[in-house]
Amino acid sequence: MDPLNPAPKKSRELPPLPEPPKPFVGQEQMGILRERMVETQLKARGIIDKAVLDLLGRLPRHLFVDPSMVDLAYSDGPLPIGFGQTISQPYIVAFMTETLALTPEDRVLEIGSGCGYQTAVLASLAQEVYAVELLPGLFDQGRANIKKLGFQNVWAKHGDGSLGWPEMAPFTAIVAAAYGSRTPRRLLDQLSPGGRLLMPLGEPESQSLVLFRKAKDGRVTSRSILGCRFVPLVGG
Ligand code: SAH
Repeated sequence: MDPLNPAPKKSRELPPLPEPPKPFVGQEQMGILRERMVETQLKARGIIDKAVLDLLGRLPRHLFVDPSMVDLAYSDGPLPIGFGQTISQPYIVAFMTETLALTPEDRVLEIGSGCGYQTAVLASLAQEVYAVELLPGLFDQGRANIKKLGFQNVWAKHGDGSLGWPEMAPFTAIVAAAYGSRTPRRLLDQLSPGGRLLMPLGEPESQSLVLFRKAKDGRVTSRSILGCRFVPLVGG
């Protein structure tokens, strides 16, 4: 056989091409997705608080999720954030924030701060936010995200938020992103007169968001305002 003209190799199948890279979703594209989220998920479902709509239209939610989920960051649902937990659906974050009707005077206790997205929302509207997260890995992640965005009015603690944060009480607003099974007495004790506490209560398959209000004389009233589905509050 002529070594300079080797017999043509038997044609064989080419190896499959690698997966095409995901299209790069840049800042501009993120802004468009955010605007669409505000229109189709928030306004369309009745969120009207301008401060909340403006804020969620600006806050880069994609910086709080795992890089592999960036292009789902503005989708209409919760997303996994690791450790078996989820970042809440944008509508739920907006609804809870609108319900709390925060002002720049509020001192907020947040229980279950996870990746820090809701922390950032609260910190943008209130004076101070005290964020408690039970899982060390998420606590680190949330704190890093909050730091990355430059918030100066957030204090973060790793621990069981069902105990509240007695050293920093009282709070004018308390919000929990994990459901409990009974009236949160310890948390209500840490609420100032005139304050409100918003928390999911119920069972795994059936929960509602309950809004507690503490009157100036200390009397507490509550009402269920929305059916919902959260992860459980672990611990106390
Ligand atoms: N707002 C969060 C939602 C996280 S899901 C976000 O935007 O990412 C609920 C969170 O509550 C989880 O991170 C979970 O670890 C936390 N959690 C559950 N029980 C808790 C407890 N007893 N104290 C503090 N955090 C708790």
